[in-house]
Amino acid sequence: GGVISFKDVHFAYDPERPILKGISFEVGAGKTVAVVGPSGAGKSTLSRLLYRFYDVQSGSIEIDGQDVRDLTQKSLRAAIGMVPQDTVLFNDTIAYNIRYGRPSASEEEVSAAAEVAQVGDFIRALPEGFQTKVGERGLKLSGGEKQRVAIARTILKAPPILILDEATSALDTTTEREIQTALDIVSKNRTTLVIAHRLSTVIGADEIIVLKNGQIAERGKHQALLARN
Ligand code: ADP
Ligand code: ADP
Repeated sequence: GGVISFKDVHFAYDPERPILKGISFEVGAGKTVAVVGPSGAGKSTLSRLLYRFYDVQSGSIEIDGQDVRDLTQKSLRAAIGMVPQDTVLFNDTIAYNIRYGRPSASEEEVSAAAEVAQVGDFIRALPEGFQTKVGERGLKLSGGEKQRVAIARTILKAPPILILDEATSALDTTTEREIQTALDIVSKNRTTLVIAHRLSTVIGADEIIVLKNGQIAERGKHQALLARN
């Protein structure tokens, strides 16, 4: 399971300014589709619509043939794991933040997920800003580390569908490579929608969709797109 279909999706935050003007594509079970395009093209909006932060204005989004509007919030959120661009952590230990992905998980499972996402070293630490009764200060995590915590949470949750909103260029190359490795592990055999900022990070995608002016300007495999541009 886990097939995602966007069918003639139209959406505008402001009725005067349509963002998506008839977007149709499918992500097959276990496949990875990457959406690229200029900043402001509506890439993240696609993921927000799938997760139902907003609803489409016409057309539909379906999971395994079921309109997401007919799914309960609970079942939709159980089916989808989202690794956002800016992870906000709960004011509790990193272990707690990872366990949020699946509260019934054992300590060993939490630790294993932390290891895969390379945050095992500070699993007992508290994020910065957390103040204990005795006034201890928390640990300041970088953007990349916070994102790895979100990845560990998603590894633990193990949902059939993944939405990855890629790290921005704010991350250094080493961090980006580490995150990419963790993301490759978590997206293996899962239906994955990647919001990508650079074509170079989505070489392995089954299909790349180029979004421009609210429409699909081009689509294909990495090689074919490079050859045409
Ligand atoms: P991308 O991910 O491709 O950079 P987004 O989907 O984030 O683009 O945004 C598409 C357009 O919608 C942008 O012009 C952005 O300013 C606008 N936008 C995004 N979120 C909102 C919002 N909550 N309200 C109004 N406009 C928004
Ligand atoms: P779910 O509980 O099914 O994961 P939510 O909508 O509550 O669905 O959260 C979606 C994702 O956003 C969570 O998996 C988590 O990564 C993150 N999240 C939501 N709320 C918070 C929060 N208050 N602090 C930190 N992360 C949060």
